[in-house]
Amino acid sequence: MMEGLQRQLQRDRGLTVSTLPDKGRCLFTTRDFSPGEIILSEEPYVSVPNKSSAESRCDWCFTSSNIKRCSSCHVVWYCGSRCQKSDWKLHRLECQLLSQLEKNRIRSLTPSIRLMVKLYLKKKLQDEKVIPTNVMDNYSLVKNLVSHISEVGEKQLVLYAQMASLVNIILQWPDLNIKEIAENFSKLACNAHTVCDSELIPLGTGLYPVVSIINHSCYPNSVLVFEGRMATVRAMQHIPKGSEVLISYIETAGSTLTRQKALKEQYFFTCSCPRCIKLVFLSDVIMVFLVFIKNFMFLTSFNHEQARSNRFPHK
Ligand SMILES: [Zn+2]
Ligand SMILES: [Zn+2]
Ligand SMILES: [Zn+2]
Repeated sequence: MMEGLQRQLQRDRGLTVSTLPDKGRCLFTTRDFSPGEIILSEEPYVSVPNKSSAESRCDWCFTSSNIKRCSSCHVVWYCGSRCQKSDWKLHRLECQLLSQLEKNRIRSLTPSIRLMVKLYLKKKLQDEKVIPTNVMDNYSLVKNLVSHISEVGEKQLVLYAQMASLVNIILQWPDLNIKEIAENFSKLACNAHTVCDSELIPLGTGLYPVVSIINHSCYPNSVLVFEGRMATVRAMQHIPKGSEVLISYIETAGSTLTRQKALKEQYFFTCSCPRCIKLVFLSDVIMVFLVFIKNFMFLTSFNHEQARSNRFPHK
């Protein structure tokens, strides 16, 4: 499947996936891109709207206008028959599972839990060929995503294990592996994207495994935007052939320390983009300067002491 993706990206888009030892997978251009040009568009492998008491959203397109609750499960909303139909193969299974759940379990259904349930349902349906697969839409892309599970803290691991057991209760599959579900939660935490509208208001969460190949820079050459559920990466500047496509995973307006903290906490890496390196370099210069000042002050105070003791030799 990876070879198929590689071929399609190269042929249709002018892109190639490379693996670098220090960065892992990277997306490179194999032709020039002009400012504003679409580099990549991707539908989510799975997605789920945010849970808000004030406003529900269509499970397929995230709109909040003219939505109706699914009459069987009373959990999921749709804006119309088109979105309901697009989601039906997967929701048919999810709907049965949700309908069987007790009231208090329904209340504990967070978007993350629902996203994980949908991930397993989609995999099952693609395995059974109920939902077709293609090179941009298959579980092996999800399988290849990093989870950073070995770097996750104890407290978070306990939480993932609890969430995994809830997924297990909902799915009730005999061969489910709780550890694998927990690892998949870690995977979602560092790979899933917040789907926003044009005013950057968060609407939901989606897993876009091809977009996830794109690495971060605090000084990116591309930007990720959403049109409904569709994720689109656009060039922000002229990108020459042979460049790495880079987007920002975080708010770029923050200070270098804020950015580095956010990247380390959520994505488990230390950014070495030009903006971050500049600070590291600068802070090195500052450190050298401080050491110099300290030595200088030590020496002058030493000389001062000496001068004093010279002045009052008999005291
Ligand atoms: Zn809709
Ligand atoms: Zn339903
Ligand atoms: Zn950076």
